Amino acid sequence: MNLDADICILGGGCAGLSLAVALCEYAPHLSVQILDSRSQYTRDRTWCFWNAEPHPFTSCVSHSWSRWSVQAVGQLVQRQSARYRYEHIPADRFYAFALQRIAGSPNQKLSLNVRAGSITPDRQSVAVETSSGRIRARLVFDSRPPPLSPWRRTGLLQRFTGWHVHTGNPCFNPEVVELMDFQPPTLSGRTTFFYTLPFTPNEALVEATYLDWPDLTPIDAESDLKRRLQNLTGDRYEILYRENGTLPMSCAAPPPTPPNICTIGRLGGRLKPSSGYAFLRIQRQSRALARALAASAPLPKFFEPRFYSALDRIFLEALQHRPEAASNYLVPLFRDVPADTLVRFLSESGTLQESLEIGLALPALPFLQAAAFSLMGAAA
Ligand SMILES: Cc1cc2nc3c(=O)[nH]c(=O)nc-3n(C[C@H](O)[C@H](O)[C@H](O)COP(=O)(O)OP(=O)(O)OC[C@H]3O[C@@H](n4cnc5c(N)ncnc54)[C@H](O)[C@@H]3O)c2cc1C
Repeated sequence: MNLDADICILGGGCAGLSLAVALCEYAPHLSVQILDSRSQYTRDRTWCFWNAEPHPFTSCVSHSWSRWSVQAVGQLVQRQSARYRYEHIPADRFYAFALQRIAGSPNQKLSLNVRAGSITPDRQSVAVETSSGRIRARLVFDSRPPPLSPWRRTGLLQRFTGWHVHTGNPCFNPEVVELMDFQPPTLSGRTTFFYTLPFTPNEALVEATYLDWPDLTPIDAESDLKRRLQNLTGDRYEILYRENGTLPMSCAAPPPTPPNICTIGRLGGRLKPSSGYAFLRIQRQSRALARALAASAPLPKFFEPRFYSALDRIFLEALQHRPEAASNYLVPLFRDVPADTLVRFLSESGTLQESLEIGLALPALPFLQAAAFSLMGAAA
């Protein structure tokens, strides 16, 4: 049978390009076609994560911090680590690095302005209908973003709007990332926090983040950001870059696929349900898939220890039940758990014993209730 490629990757975003880069390293002999509907790569987002394990994009890290804080009304917790740093990768650097690796690989080809449509598997190959014709490959990796609908039944929605600003006066501490600055509950009891990545005393990415706020409009988020920046700068700031996102926080399993189609990235359930972080999870998946392909082994289905999904389920259950209590859960966690242990836990690279210790730092009643609900849900 005539194949256009061994592998066709649908969507050349974070997951599609990460897989392509991993294939360059582990299985450079495989022919790979990457299709993306976008016409160009721009800085459309930034990725942050703790460097709890190695990844191939270290040269793209533009900033990193060893100190971080979380705060709620009347409580400020600041922690630091000598071992782990919170790393920041602007998307344009990530894309440029990946595109360079792909261009340097004789067996990989990236096509932009190509929209992938239906995919039809048979026993030996998969046919992909695209805006530039049909492509047939032995295996398809699909990362086209899924609709947001499942969150309605199974989770929360995290929305955020961020501005990278340059301010007239020095008002940021570039040593400390503000992970969550919880705002007092609003009349509707919804949860809002600000997230600030300070690059210099005069430059930062400031994001307003909302949990479970389906009726929020971009204008609401912008007026919250304006108020925040007005307080900090007295209105002397310039917006250099904007980003916004809507991420489902849900334990819904990715849709089942036949053996020659594999979902990756957000579509493949790589967003961590309790936080919305995905970058490290995507790197883990890319590495594991590329290694399996290099060894002609079956594709792995799980990439983190299974107990993390049970913990995510419990945390999400508690959060879903009372989103406005998020700061009551998270501030003590950052305060009472040693920084390195918490980083490993949040990055899903810790041990079961560490996770149990962390469980003890959480308020007992809501989490026992949540565990019971989650068990009942799993059994139903
Ligand atoms: C603004 C923002 C900030 C984030 N920040 C962080 C962070 O700090 N840390 C973290 O860990 N996670 C973060 N995330 C979450 C997660 O890491 C990202 O959403 C990540 O980009 C998910 O990767 P993906 O490949 O699944 O999707 P994407 O990166 O969105 O890639 C999907 C690709 O598919 C293409 N596509 C869509 N439809 C088609 C089609 N029909 N045919 C062909 N191509 C198509 C798109 O053009 C796109 O390039 C953030 C998300 C957003 C939105």
